[in-house]
Amino acid sequence: NMAKRVSIMDSHGVNKKPSPSRVRVAVRLRPYMEKGEDKVCVRGLDSQSLEIVNWRNQLETMQYQFDAFYGDKATQREIYTGSVYPILPHLLVGQNASVFAYGPTGAGKTHTMLGNPNQPGVIPRAVRDLLQMTRTNDNPDEEQWSYSITMSYVEIYQEKVMDLLEPKNKDLPIREDKDHNILISGVTQKTITTFSDFDEHFIPASQNRTVACTKLNDRSSRSHAVLLIKVQKNQQVPPFRQLTGKLYLIDLAGSEDNRRTGNQGIRLKESGAINSSLFTLSKVVDALNQGLPRIPYRDSKLTRLLQDSLGGSAHSVMITNIAPEQKYYFDTLTALNFAAKSKQIINKPFSQETTQAPVQPTMKRPRDDLENSAPSQ
Ligand code: ADP
Ligand code: MG
Repeated sequence: NMAKRVSIMDSHGVNKKPSPSRVRVAVRLRPYMEKGEDKVCVRGLDSQSLEIVNWRNQLETMQYQFDAFYGDKATQREIYTGSVYPILPHLLVGQNASVFAYGPTGAGKTHTMLGNPNQPGVIPRAVRDLLQMTRTNDNPDEEQWSYSITMSYVEIYQEKVMDLLEPKNKDLPIREDKDHNILISGVTQKTITTFSDFDEHFIPASQNRTVACTKLNDRSSRSHAVLLIKVQKNQQVPPFRQLTGKLYLIDLAGSEDNRRTGNQGIRLKESGAINSSLFTLSKVVDALNQGLPRIPYRDSKLTRLLQDSLGGSAHSVMITNIAPEQKYYFDTLTALNFAAKSKQIINKPFSQETTQAPVQPTMKRPRDDLENSAPSQ
């Protein structure tokens, strides 16, 4: 049936007027890393789209479009300057923002957010730049204001908020004040004035994170790591205004389908909590991007915490990390269906050449008339 063969899905309302509360979605494909005969099943097309094999029909390819696509050669700097740096100025005028890394375990979330000393990720770059931007002595226009930056670092594990800077705080409540600011009651806040202040708190706290083994990855993260950087701006002359901007930098739990990783018992219980929390996040992002009237923030701890920093006047970016290897195929599809602005199935087999291998001739469909048929929706 031809109607099924070519179709466009528009799950995030691309044809509607862009709303300020829309969550921008970027996809990052990590380099191919598996050894052996595994073949790639996904590749980039341009700066906003990629193509992937259609498992239902080898003669078809699926193309997805996003706000931004970063291919396997993209550097840490490109991702940061393209998708994160542009939101930082909003924090200095008292607006909130959030950046998440989403995707299956092993696809590059922690690499994107944290990176390593040679390839620093989003977190160290954003902290460094915010510290720089709030140094008022570099900025004579701002002499009537003073800034202070604080950090908090929590983990959401099995729907409990744990303080990574003070591990004895194991189940902190999330509250809303009279101005509808969301806060974590009793969470540790450390003032940072230099990057080494940040490191001094962040490095030992990271070691407090809960990690466990699954079949997919030896030390796969089973929890959401939530770093909060608060920028407070105090006017030094009357009327002594005070503005606070919050930035959440979040390394989400793996989005893999745990029915296929052989998890049992406690792991399965954890997986349920992780999946329901990620599931709520996907519903919130979908509702925001479709402009729905009800956003289900209260359905999980993670989204409740983000209520004032995701949607509304906040600036949000979701970086979906995917891996090119065949064994990630179904988890990649799940992640793409969450992230995509649109999806199109086209009548063209996914050719199996890799970047190293010589280009093979593309198989032609016997019926050329299907090649250019118009989308059915
Ligand atoms: P996740 O946090 O999603 O489980 P990781 O960030 O730990 O995934 O990435 C898995 C492995 O792949 C790590 O060894 C990481 O260093 C490597 N990796 C991920 N993304 C990239 C990339 N863009 N370039 C090089 N190596 C990467
Ligand atoms: Mg990780």
